[in-house]
Amino acid sequence: MKKIELLAPAGDLEKLKYAIIYGADAVYLAGQSFGMRKASKNFNEDELKEAVNFVHSHQKKIYITLNIIPHNDDLDGLEEYVEFLIDIGVDALIVSDPGIYSLVRSVSDDIEVHLSTQASVTNYQTVKFWEKMGIKRTILARELSLEEIKQIKEEVPSMDLEVFVHGAMCISYSGRCLLSNYMTGRDSNRGDCAQACRWKYHLVEEKRPGEYFPIEEDDKGTFIYNSKDLCMINHIPELFDTGVDSLKLEGRVKTLYYVATVVRSYRLAIDAYCEGTFNEKLANELLNEIKKVSHRDFTTGFFFKKPDENDQLYTSSSYIRNYDFVGIVLDYDDESKIATIEQRNRIFSGDKLEVFGPEKGFKEFTMGKMINSDNEIVEVVPRAKEVFKTKLDFPVKKNDLIRKIIIE
Ligand code: SF4
Repeated sequence: MKKIELLAPAGDLEKLKYAIIYGADAVYLAGQSFGMRKASKNFNEDELKEAVNFVHSHQKKIYITLNIIPHNDDLDGLEEYVEFLIDIGVDALIVSDPGIYSLVRSVSDDIEVHLSTQASVTNYQTVKFWEKMGIKRTILARELSLEEIKQIKEEVPSMDLEVFVHGAMCISYSGRCLLSNYMTGRDSNRGDCAQACRWKYHLVEEKRPGEYFPIEEDDKGTFIYNSKDLCMINHIPELFDTGVDSLKLEGRVKTLYYVATVVRSYRLAIDAYCEGTFNEKLANELLNEIKKVSHRDFTTGFFFKKPDENDQLYTSSSYIRNYDFVGIVLDYDDESKIATIEQRNRIFSGDKLEVFGPEKGFKEFTMGKMINSDNEIVEVVPRAKEVFKTKLDFPVKKNDLIRKIIIE
């Protein structure tokens, strides 16, 4: 069986490393210009080189986004940047604009190019067009059903197809929206969306400033453009059935903990499907893991039907958070049973915690005595990224992550 690629976001070098360690086959990221997602830290040239080396040392792939919708000024320096990216050995460039694409091709005939979801490809004729132009992979618009995706693959089998399967949804055709530009000056088509669609809207009559009339589609509320987040962990078989080549996770501004957790669940789901062990029980277990990072309620987007009122959130646009990410295991000594941990959120002796690695399952435990970086026994480790030690009577591994239950 052909294995589908699992493609993860990487907002910075640390997140990239955890995406790979927790099971991504490939990562996508932006340099400090030309890519969407200004809110993520993005990579400078040295970091890009390190990223390529790290990913390739794990025999995985790295794709760089150049998918803004550019104005004239945005093109300054692009050619040199493309030359640099090809030089350091990235595996593909992601573009949406034909001008950027032709500039990339003027630099190299060979570099693999993926067409961004920003190009809103929704049918096989468009895919055929882009194939003739030399595009290797199309990242389909999020607004397609499984049936439509399957038909596109049947019509253009030689084109690699990538689909978004997890993460936040745009209420417009991905990124093709001026709400954020209009209300904040932040350009969603240059990676700087303020997610204005998720704000709470009211109606105000011009002579009654301060009197806010609720906008209500029904008695549930006022969040008129507020989509649930996409999640397809329960539908891995249906995704395989379409013949797509890559499953993409959204979230370059999300945390390391988010990326590792979501990547791990999809990794385990894909592997289980390939081994013939994927079933509803496993899918629900993996969904529960995903719910341990901050999340909204979930939808299957356009895959099965056009979204309706059940795919919207009416009461809040904020995230549900039941767990805090509190630490990373740096080392474990089998003889002394001492774990060395880097703090990522305040940890107290007596906290109920869970530790997990890239494999399936997790271990619950209660934090005992901790020895801080000044070699003192402490009840709390309050300083961000402080390294401390504690005794654990079960083995853990470097890069395991620790979370704290805050709401049971
Ligand atoms: S404001 Fe909302 S719909 Fe518009 S681009 Fe941003 S996320 Fe998409």
